[in-house]
Amino acid sequence: MENRKEVLEGLLERLERGDPLIIVGLDHPDIPNLHNFYPKRYWESIVHRGFGSFEGKTEHGTFSFYGGGAMNHHHFKDGSWLSWSSLEVSNPEVLKDLEYDCQKVASVLRQIINSMSKDYIKRVSRKAPIFQGRAIIIQSAHNRTVIPVPDALILCDACNVEIKTEEVNLLMINGRVWGAVCESCRLRHHKDLPIRREEV
Ligand SMILES: [Zn+2]
Repeated sequence: MENRKEVLEGLLERLERGDPLIIVGLDHPDIPNLHNFYPKRYWESIVHRGFGSFEGKTEHGTFSFYGGGAMNHHHFKDGSWLSWSSLEVSNPEVLKDLEYDCQKVASVLRQIINSMSKDYIKRVSRKAPIFQGRAIIIQSAHNRTVIPVPDALILCDACNVEIKTEEVNLLMINGRVWGAVCESCRLRHHKDLPIRREEV
């Protein structure tokens, strides 16, 4: 099942291709929804043609869209939902009358999507400070044993395999390092996370 982010990514692709959309459920002033996608002067031109289909007019032609239950709709596991409809125009001038700019909407939607992905893979050099001076501490009732870990020895925190590559994946969860993960664990468990290279 698609999650909210995947659905939004699909809608973003359509906007980037120049396919105008009306999206309900994001609650963002710069995302066109059923009530704000047209300048007020066109409101009176909008008529219901039945089955949730609406049509309006501008100086240059007509536009149409679906409203309410006739829109595409998706309910997500987290309880949130999204509805959307294509905005069809009889010619590109109508889109200008409506002051609808696909690329502008796409850039707002891209920001919304990016702010959703707090988790990511941080690629760092194996010489990064995080791998230096590590130690395993074994604490018992009477003594504390510190076993230094050689800087060059990096193990995958998921499967324990030794990571020998020049660059190492750090799994970042909510802005914190969860641990190092080898490339095969990354592909197996985290292939959807964005990868960011640490700038040195
Ligand atoms: Zn692994």
